[in-house]
Amino acid sequence: MGLMRIPYTAPLPDPTIIPASAKSFSGAINALYDFITAPNASGPSGKTVLLTGAGISVASGLADYRGTAGTYTLNKTYRPVYFHEFCASHEARKRYWARSFLGWTNLHKSKPNPAHHAIAELGKMGHISSVITQNVDSFHPVAHPTLRSLELHGYLRSALCLSCRREYPRNQFQSDLRVLNPTWSAFLDEMISSGALTTENPEERRAKGLKTNPDGDVDIPGVEYSSFRYPPCPHCLKDPPRNKEGEKDVVRADDDGAWDASSTGGVLKPAVIMFGESIPGPVKTAAEEAIDEAAKVLVLGSSLATYSAWRLIKRAKDRGMAIGICNLGGVRGEEQFFADLDQRKSVRIAQPTEKLLPGLVDVLRSAEIERLGHRPFVPAHWGN
Ligand SMILES: [Zn+2]
Repeated sequence: MGLMRIPYTAPLPDPTIIPASAKSFSGAINALYDFITAPNASGPSGKTVLLTGAGISVASGLADYRGTAGTYTLNKTYRPVYFHEFCASHEARKRYWARSFLGWTNLHKSKPNPAHHAIAELGKMGHISSVITQNVDSFHPVAHPTLRSLELHGYLRSALCLSCRREYPRNQFQSDLRVLNPTWSAFLDEMISSGALTTENPEERRAKGLKTNPDGDVDIPGVEYSSFRYPPCPHCLKDPPRNKEGEKDVVRADDDGAWDASSTGGVLKPAVIMFGESIPGPVKTAAEEAIDEAAKVLVLGSSLATYSAWRLIKRAKDRGMAIGICNLGGVRGEEQFFADLDQRKSVRIAQPTEKLLPGLVDVLRSAEIERLGHRPFVPAHWGN
């Protein structure tokens, strides 16, 4: 139960906008304003919990898995590495880390967008209780470090040791991969300068010189995936861990510092929940508690295609919470979902979050000015 699966990718029907006045951009902002500010007795805080997905990161230059520029829509043959393969097979790990090595630069240089910054403002205004995200890009904790983010599917910013569970910064790991893989490193520089790694579209990538094979792997002339090398956990290399039977694991590195195939431990994995891996119990519980302590839930940029997100919204629905969804495309099972939901308490809109949320912040600020009858008092700079 709760295993990460490849998202459901069949086409989804177009959304029915609720209320009908929310079809226009300003109508959508008004509907969201009413949703966020509605007095609501249920839930201890009266606040809204946000559930965000890949759609909110598109404006940061990252692909939505299923949107028009999504990995699964454009690159249907792409075969991810599953958790059990990663744990069991040195070859699978080489393949995973080689792909990750090529993709890291684009992720590392991308930043939170106006939607994330607007969420920070909404948090300061006291409207949001916490943010649950399916995204692994760390944009939420970067944009609003004081408003709690629960990263349901982990995060790419760290590599994690499967033996001792220590975490290491992914960026440092990238430098280690560069040193261990000079041919790949030269190829990476070439692809960065061609711009081929800034798109997920296989045709655009091909046009810029990046060829992929039918599995979605990059084709580098004269270089095989099996040539890729990755380092072991530095801590386990110095002090080998004990396995389940209480015996010391073997952790060896070759002369250059790459993980040696005779090792039995010290393997680093990305700190994301991989396909086929379960979400850790404490993370699941924290997400459920975040739903339970809020009065309303607002979904932003997610089609709820992953089971972990779907069951949280199902939980909110079962608790009778007000539910809002803003997603450009359809949402899994939404017709049925909204059919028996109290429509007076629900919002279903389809606007880009990087425009909608800053718009909502502006309207909330204007309403506050109107309520006070004047602009909030700001002490003059000579007053302190
Ligand atoms: Zn370790």
